[in-house]
Amino acid sequence: MKHKTIEIFLFIDALGWKIVNDHGFLTDMLPFRKKVDMQFGYSSSAIPTILSGKTPAEHGHLGLFRFAPEKSPFKVFSRLAWLFKPESFWNRGRVRHHLSKLLKKFYGFTGYFQLYRMPLWKLKYMDYCEKQDLFIAHGMGDIANLHDTLRAKGVNFHISDWHLSDDENFSAAQQAIENGKNFLFVYTASFDGVLHDHIHDETVIKAKLEAIKLQIEALYRKAEKFAENVHFTVFSDHGMTPLAGTVDIMQAIKMSGLIFGEDYGACFDSTMARFYYLNEKAKVVIADVMKGFPGHFLSCEEEKKYKIYREDRAFGDGIFILDAGIQIVPSDMGSKALNGMHGFIPENEHSPAAILSNISLPENIEHVSDYFNLMTERAEKL
Ligand SMILES: [Zn+2]
Repeated sequence: MKHKTIEIFLFIDALGWKIVNDHGFLTDMLPFRKKVDMQFGYSSSAIPTILSGKTPAEHGHLGLFRFAPEKSPFKVFSRLAWLFKPESFWNRGRVRHHLSKLLKKFYGFTGYFQLYRMPLWKLKYMDYCEKQDLFIAHGMGDIANLHDTLRAKGVNFHISDWHLSDDENFSAAQQAIENGKNFLFVYTASFDGVLHDHIHDETVIKAKLEAIKLQIEALYRKAEKFAENVHFTVFSDHGMTPLAGTVDIMQAIKMSGLIFGEDYGACFDSTMARFYYLNEKAKVVIADVMKGFPGHFLSCEEEKKYKIYREDRAFGDGIFILDAGIQIVPSDMGSKALNGMHGFIPENEHSPAAILSNISLPENIEHVSDYFNLMTERAEKL
């Protein structure tokens, strides 16, 4: 027996509106297309937003780390930081990767966990926001995520396992259709990785988009065998902005004489520095130091507009966003600049996300937080 309709939502990390248009991606197959405002931040804020329809102000995820000494799960480990010498060895990418794996296991984290370049001695001041797997049942605590919502509605659904490769997730999606599922949320992340390295290489991007297209067509054909109608929708979280320069904010703040953990706390993402003022002096000194950098502190109005304003200042007392294309190097996220980066202001021409579908899209899809309602409304109609 065939389903009347199969709904497929395919998430492609970093498939920005600009690249979609520059490459005419799937214009024939998915003619209903819209530019979508990205969620301020990067995937760590966009993914929980997409999976819950809630904003970072509500779900509490902006950067992966936040300065919160009283909440840090890493206190004991961080006290051992002096054992991890020389620092250069423990800062190597592969070593960090294995150490992240060990810590993830030790703390029982099920979410996406990477230490990136966060200094080990700083960990005791830091809380980590993605301790739980956001995709699974009760993955967002009190907030109902896509899994919880679809289950409550009795939908026969499949949601990708984000730990798997894109190939594995496309295979799992095909298998889910064979197993009778008629709502699919398929997660893919490799396009983001390609763009970080090859944003300037049209040939590489074109080849990658071509490979994705083949996987989409295969999935579509499979669904056609099991349903009278296949609703296929592709959406993304943000685009990718080419590198335009780097700044060393960490060093400048260090040179100011302020003491981390006493005067101030900070998280240095690739595109924003989030400061926590522990005294009045820190606020004045940091404001002065930051005058020398290309970017600005978000105003209260901007924080509200970008849906990241919180009374408790969990994301930082002051959030300094770099001008588009300028990366903080080194940052807590890495020691080298990447050719492309996301997480600049949503208004930058490279920032917007995209939604592409083979059936018409409602007018009210304007922001990535709107995908959630679209998915749940379509699921209700199955
Ligand atoms: Zn990325």
